[in-house]
Order: sequence, then C-alpha cells, then structure tokens
Amino acid sequence: MTHDGLSDRFGLQHAASRAEGAPSAQVRRERLAALKALVLERREAFARAIDADFGARSAMETGLLEVTPLIRSLDHARAHLGRWMRDERRRVDLMFQPSRAWIRHEPLGVVGVIAPWNYPLLLALGPTVDALAAGNRVMIKPSELTPAFGALLEAAVAERFDPAVLNVVNGGVETAQAFSRLAFDHLVFTGSTRVGREVMRAAAENLTPVTLELGGKSPAVVAPDYPLDKAAQSISFGKFLNAGQTCIAPDYALVPAGQVQAFAEAVLDQARRAYPRLGDNPDYSGVISDRHRVRLREAVAAARAAGAVVLEHPDAAAEGGKIAPSLVLNPPTDGLLMQEEIFGPVLPVIGYETLDQALAFVAARPRPLALYGFTNQARTRDRILGAGLSGGVTLNGTMLHIAQNDLPFGGVGPSGLGAYHGHEGFKRFSHARAVYDVGPVNVFERLGPPWDGAAGRLARAALRFMVR
Ligand code: NAD
Repeated sequence: MTHDGLSDRFGLQHAASRAEGAPSAQVRRERLAALKALVLERREAFARAIDADFGARSAMETGLLEVTPLIRSLDHARAHLGRWMRDERRRVDLMFQPSRAWIRHEPLGVVGVIAPWNYPLLLALGPTVDALAAGNRVMIKPSELTPAFGALLEAAVAERFDPAVLNVVNGGVETAQAFSRLAFDHLVFTGSTRVGREVMRAAAENLTPVTLELGGKSPAVVAPDYPLDKAAQSISFGKFLNAGQTCIAPDYALVPAGQVQAFAEAVLDQARRAYPRLGDNPDYSGVISDRHRVRLREAVAAARAAGAVVLEHPDAAAEGGKIAPSLVLNPPTDGLLMQEEIFGPVLPVIGYETLDQALAFVAARPRPLALYGFTNQARTRDRILGAGLSGGVTLNGTMLHIAQNDLPFGGVGPSGLGAYHGHEGFKRFSHARAVYDVGPVNVFERLGPPWDGAAGRLARAALRFMVR
C-alpha cells in the first residue's frame, strides 16, 4: 500500500471518530457480531491460507488455538459489554459535598494493530475485539510473512465492514514502518522485543500510547516434588504446538540435576506419541522461513559443539520445512540457545541442585512473558511465584493463562508493556474520563477573596478542619 493510501484510510477513521463520538452498546455489539460471522464463515479458508503461509500448519491448531479463543473472546465481550460500559461512581471528598463524581469509559478513537505471523488470525483480531468493544475504529497490519492470510483477511473485512470502522492494510516492512508512524490514539504491537523498541520510538513522535506484546524466554520450573512424567507431558504439549513458534511456549526447562536425562527422554517420548512422523504429518507444523530454520539449526549445532547432548525425534531426517522436536541437555548458558528466545521446537533442559538456585537463575534474567511452575506443594508454589516477576503464570500446566478471558494478558519489562483481553482489554482501549458535577450549590468557589469577612472565616475553618 502507498503511503498516501495509508494516510487516506487513517484520515477516514480519524475524521469519523471525531465527528461521530462514542457508539452505543448496540452498535458495538453489531460490529462484534459481524466480526464473529466473518470468522465463522471463513474459518476453513483462514486455516488453508495459514497452512500455505507456513508451508505446513496443522488445521487443528488453527481451529483450537486461534479460532476458538477468538470466538470465546467475542462472546465474552458481547456478554459483558453493558456492564463494562456503565459509568463508575466515585466518592467525593467531604469538602466538596454535595456533588457527584464518576468515570465515563470513552473510546480513544482510532486504534492500530500490528500483528505477527505466528498466530496471524488471533493476534490480528484479538486486540481488534477489545478495541471495537471499547467503541474504537481499528486498522490492522498483518505480517508480511503471512501474505495469503493477510490478503484473505483484507478481502473479508472489506466485504463486511465500513473502512471507517475497520480496515486491513497489507504490505512489507516499509508499510509496517509507515503504519507505526500514523497518529493513532493507541497502537498495539505484537512481535519481537527488537521491533517493539522501533515501534515505540515511532509512536513517541505522535505521543501515541502503545501496548507492546513481546516475547522472551519463558521458563518452566519443575519442583522436586512434582511427578516428572506429568511435567514432561505438559511441557511437551506447550513446546511442540505450532512447532514451538508461540510467544508463551516454555522456552527452557529447569529440573532437578539428577533427572535431566530422564526428563528429556520423557519429553521426547511424549513428542513421539503426539507426532509419530514429522515430514508428511499434517498435525506437526512447519517453521515459518529459511532464516528461522537456519537460526534454530545453528543454535543447536553450537550447543552440540560446546559439548551438550542433543536428543532428537527419530524422524529428524524427513524434515522438509520442519524442524524435529529436539532436547538439548545442559547447553552453555552463554550460547545462542540460552541467550535468545528460541521460538522453535527445541527445548534446553537445565539441571539445578536446589530449587533456590533454579529460581535465582530465572530471577537473574530478563523478565519473561510467562512462567510455568510445577509443584503440588503450596509453599513451593509461593516460592516460585515470589522469586521473580513474569507477565503471567500457569501452574501445573503450560500456556493456559492466555485462554482465560477474565485474566489480563501481557508482559512486563522486556516482554511487554500493557495488557489486554476481556475487561482489561476494554479498559486498555478506553479513556477513563473523569467527570465531576458540582451540582446546584458550589460551596468551594464561594470561598473566594477578599478573605476578610465570612469567606475568610469559612476558609480558615476549612483549613483547620482539613489540614491536620
Ligand atoms: P516481528 O517483530 O519481526 O514482526 C511483527 C510485526 O511487525 C510484523 O507485522 C512486521 O511487519 C512488523 N514490523 C517489522 N518491522 C517493523 C518496524 N520497523 N516498524 C513497525 N513494524 C514492523 O515479529 P514476528 O517474527 O512476526 O513474531 C515473533 C515475535 O513475536 C516473537 O518474539 C514472539 O515472542 C512475539 N510474540 C509475542 C506475542 C505476545 O502476545 N506477547 C504473541 C506472538 C508473538
């Protein structure tokens, strides 16, 4: 898209948002219903397009991990919108009685959404659901790495929506950069921490507030009390879905030192059960691009060269565009595997002597997007939760906190800024506008100068009463 085209689309939404003000609950519900109909009608076409973009993307994964949470969040927003939109009564200080104060949740105006490729449907439309529920207009920029999906979304949205309410802009990195320079009222970016910095810099020029949904290395800590096989099953599930290309996939596992080999074998067994073959198995997703495949292979090769043992799925040879599930035992902590987000089906397993040592290892590293703790003991759970901050947590499982509509989803520090989903998403894309109604008697403003006489006596009494 040309820069002029981009500015025109933005101008259309911006002008409409200023001219028309806040849409009613009914209009918002209608927009959400139209979005739901669009997703339901095109879900198979979306799955096929994402499959084409990935080279191989399991249709079940698209259904379960993208379409389902999207529909659930649409239903959740439609069901709770009335309550979320209600004005919030606030208390008034004694000094200002009798009067009233409240908060109106107003739409911000135009919200921009920059989506990544790994869950292209969910991460383009998820923030859109919350922004539309909050009464905004939305422009979406899908990733250039999912062109088939992006084209389909653009056509489907153009068919059902007035471009002044919702439109989709496709294009390369230059378009993404121009998009991030538009004077949005809020910009949501989901992607890497590196690009997140650039987006925030561009948004700063317009003082556009941002929500940054970034990545990082999300650890899984298996406490000594927890059954190893159960943890292995759960971590294998979270790691190998979408071939590990999930922002909240467990990045690496910390297990008691004597159990590293047994745990790694259990994870691999589980992967073999889930994916008996790889190459032509439609259940096992491919890795998005050559660059990512090369990056992953080099990181594993470097760990192997440094002496780490690597366990691989036996079908490793029949890879095609896929990378085999791989476990790397105790890789060096200064190597690529432990320095960068892995974002692929490779799991480093690191042994610890004491749980405190494992928790210190996590706390010493950049704050991750997710933390997974496996324990059946309440005290150990509290130690895990207390050791270091992360965006979110799932206990005794992986990734499922993201699926809870009534929990905020977001990172902290380098893993992100701000959160959305459900009520938090509605509030994220609303302005909490303070309204104060003085009412018929404005006592305070009667306390004006000159201060000799009744006003002065009242003001001095007020000072004595209030300031003590
Ligand atoms: P990316 O940062 O490379 O790209 C994301 C989007 O940014 C794309 O649409 C791209 O067109 C656009 N973009 C690229 N350069 C830009 C620039 N200079 N200015 C503005 N926009 C630009 O990320 P990716 O490779 O698509 O996704 C993988 C990353 O996303 C991983 O780090 C992963 O952890 C993270 N992620 C986070 C979440 C979350 O919810 N926190 C979800 C999914 C993925």
